[in-house]
Amino acid sequence: MGAPTVTEVAAGVHFVEGDAVNWVVLTDGDALTLIDAGYPADVDAVRQSLDLIGCRPDQIAAVLITHGHVDHIGSLPALLNGSTPVYLSQPEVRHVHGEYREQATPIDVVRNLHRPGYLGWSLYLARSGALKHVTLPAAAPFPSDGPLNVPGRPIPVPTPGHTSGHTCYLLPDAGVILTGDTLVTGHPTSRIEGPQLLAPIFHHDRQRTVEALDTLEALDADIVLPGHGPVYRGSIREAAAQARERAA
Ligand SMILES: [Zn+2]
Repeated sequence: MGAPTVTEVAAGVHFVEGDAVNWVVLTDGDALTLIDAGYPADVDAVRQSLDLIGCRPDQIAAVLITHGHVDHIGSLPALLNGSTPVYLSQPEVRHVHGEYREQATPIDVVRNLHRPGYLGWSLYLARSGALKHVTLPAAAPFPSDGPLNVPGRPIPVPTPGHTSGHTCYLLPDAGVILTGDTLVTGHPTSRIEGPQLLAPIFHHDRQRTVEALDTLEALDADIVLPGHGPVYRGSIREAAAQARERAA
């Protein structure tokens, strides 16, 4: 796996681009919040990203997750010491506890191998640990409504669709929205760049994902940090409109 790229998009908001998936580090003094965590094989890249920011894993005060897919939670079992709180929405807690599963299977990917990008993508998945079923038995629902009392004070924004408990995170002071896999700006299986939805096979409920764009569109933010693809600098209103148009 290659070295991650870290960009401080606003004070204390560090956007990390791994090989195929992104994560975000919010710093506040000595403490930090990690939002999403890459594939199982990204564990060294996550450590490296903290190092580039000047932090250590033991400074992680809390982990937040957009959704329980293996490319967003994969490194956590190896990264965390067990006492770090991991928070998600209530339905997504059940997902990462392994009570149900909403993820494209290897068979779904094989069925799409004739499409551009999918062969290289499937080989990448095998290397990245994507075939592991990662669960987080200690993950818990958000402890409160509104801004979370963790470094960066992100506000969870429920955006069910991609998974039933998918959550975006708003940082109102920084004007930043983390869109997870509700809205992305690129993906190895996509040939376009810019705000878009992931391919249909990746969504548990694509129609609800499109509806979740309405929620994003109503927010006030002008830096968009997606789960996949580069940062989008422009209003989330515009980004959501573009994604909706391309999805139609
Ligand atoms: Zn996903």
